[in-house]
Amino acid sequence: MDITERFLNYTKFDTQSAEDSESVPSTAKQLLFAEYLKKELEREGLEEVELDEKGYLYATLKSNVKGDIPTIGFISHYDTSPDCSGADIKPQIVRGYNGGDILLSEGIVMSPKKFPELSQHVGEDLIVTDGTTLLGADDKAGIAEIVQAMVYLQEHKDIKHGKIRIAFNPDEEIGMGAHHFDVEKFGCQWAYTMDGGDVGELEFENFNAASAKIHIKGVSVHPGYAKGKMINANVLATEFAKLLPENETPETTEGYQGFYHLIGMQGSVENATLSYIIRDHDRERFEDRKRFIESCVEKMNEKYGEGTVTAVVKDQYYNMKEKIDAQMHVIDLVLRAMQECGVAPKVKPIRGGTDGAQLSFKGLPCPNIFAGGINFHGPYEFVPIQSMEKAMQVIVKICEITADYND
Ligand SMILES: [Zn+2]
Repeated sequence: MDITERFLNYTKFDTQSAEDSESVPSTAKQLLFAEYLKKELEREGLEEVELDEKGYLYATLKSNVKGDIPTIGFISHYDTSPDCSGADIKPQIVRGYNGGDILLSEGIVMSPKKFPELSQHVGEDLIVTDGTTLLGADDKAGIAEIVQAMVYLQEHKDIKHGKIRIAFNPDEEIGMGAHHFDVEKFGCQWAYTMDGGDVGELEFENFNAASAKIHIKGVSVHPGYAKGKMINANVLATEFAKLLPENETPETTEGYQGFYHLIGMQGSVENATLSYIIRDHDRERFEDRKRFIESCVEKMNEKYGEGTVTAVVKDQYYNMKEKIDAQMHVIDLVLRAMQECGVAPKVKPIRGGTDGAQLSFKGLPCPNIFAGGINFHGPYEFVPIQSMEKAMQVIVKICEITADYND
């Protein structure tokens, strides 16, 4: 089976995860795919194929050399985004893309004018949707690449490699992919998520993240008799919001610039709440931002009385760079592998988090490598077959290089 057929088979499964679910995985249909994948891994000759009741699927490709070679891993998620339907996907292949508009179906056009990324893939074979669902290349392309690489290594016994572990998990799109990941059972020195976008992407820096809930207690009095007595929580909420720097928001920042983001507000005269998320790549500046929130609370309380404003600030996740920095060989290896496969590396900071960040803090350093998909989470998602093949080659090369890796 080639990588395209493998991937197309995966898209037949609706594996959409659900934000508001209490169960693990968040949707039962994800398990149907996990079962299918388990059988495929067994059929392809992988060992220790194990699917737990939470939908985490692990498998091993045994080492084919003697000696002490680090065990490394490759990880992808099989759920698709709750933002767009993943049911009844009808993938189509555009052979030798000519650089023009692509008619997905009657009245639905994908144009390079709107999606300039298309221009990077002229002449390639693109897998696209029919414009009514997402494609699920995020992250089934990653799964196809990993499985294909394991098959390739078994068919090319001359390529020396250590023990390779692979894992496929549910619920990444709802931020729960790493929660039930058994790092100990996985047993790798380090691993890679194959979950990035276009060819060459390599990510090992993400935000430090916290949430801040600001509560404001007002005093309600009949408006006709309110002078000098009423404290309007709504008004104080807007006053608080103005204390934060207006040029440090998502819409005014990029690259390594951090921000405060007001994601919600609720209010009455008596009570108001502001919900913020705080983001910064730099740990020091991240801590400063949280302290700044506290100082704004103090300032408000000096003016309106102790206890008027309170804040609950909670850390959410941290920048994996902190963990990777001490082990840069994990990155150097990928850069070398990409170079040997003729892929130009594109290293950039993620303005968000990844499963890999959480895994890194659970003791498994885990940068993110491209899987080739573009325009995630919507009907214009596509993946060039050549990008999947490149990713597959990079995986094989990483395994090969790790085999001569010396500490
Ligand atoms: Zn993904």
